[in-house]
Amino acid sequence: MSGIVFIISAPSGSGKTTLTAELRRVVPNLEFSISYTTRLPRGSEQTGREYFFITREEFKKMIGEDQFVEFAEVFDNYYGTARSFLREAFVRGNDVILDIDVQGAAQVKKRMPEAVSIFILPPSRQELESRLRRRTVAENAERSQLTGEEMPEEKVEAILQRRLQEASREIENYSQYDYILVNEKVEAAIDVLQAIVKAERVKRSPHPRDAEEERVLTAAELAERRHMMEKVQSILATFDFSSTRS
Ligand code: 5GP
Repeated sequence: MSGIVFIISAPSGSGKTTLTAELRRVVPNLEFSISYTTRLPRGSEQTGREYFFITREEFKKMIGEDQFVEFAEVFDNYYGTARSFLREAFVRGNDVILDIDVQGAAQVKKRMPEAVSIFILPPSRQELESRLRRRTVAENAERSQLTGEEMPEEKVEAILQRRLQEASREIENYSQYDYILVNEKVEAAIDVLQAIVKAERVKRSPHPRDAEEERVLTAAELAERRHMMEKVQSILATFDFSSTRS
């Protein structure tokens, strides 16, 4: 029997890492797929933990051997989800979470229409900008400690603007997802994320539903795309999409 594939996509700065780490802590029988990537490890990242870090040649060989369920080029690097990871997780009786970009999400949905997709949105452009600014400044400080070189302010600003544009571009793809989650308050967002995972399990279970399961189904339903349109529109209104279409 096959488990459930949950796809989570979010522009950087939407708080996805915190949410998925907490989800992993609170929900049993859920494995996070460790992707293969050609990008270099950052900070304390280790191969086999955050990613399997491989060369472009190795990645291309894996493509040739049809080892990926999906792969994409993101920020000039390849990222891919291994078929073997999904197979092994299902054999262990677990469901799987894929933290992948919008291109990968579209490929998985095409091959596995029963996969459940979730898009995480920041509450507004202003909030996204301040989160990305904090991250970019912190990365610069970390880098200058390591190398003794500080990036000029204009360069930091240019990186920030590029990230904001990329995030805006990703956000425009929200409509291909089954569920939309707005990360306003972390605790509330985790509750919704947890409800979605549990509700999808309940939907596939042959057992009669109890009161808690009905509650979870209702909570998850409120995050379905069709119920989120008004909220999404108010968030999209804070973005200037004309600058991302050039
Ligand atoms: P980062 O380099 O910051 O860890 O990730 C950059 C982007 O690549 C994120 O949007 C992340 O979701 C995406 N990503 C990570 N692994 C995969 C993967 O296996 N496939 C695809 N398509 N995207 C991935």
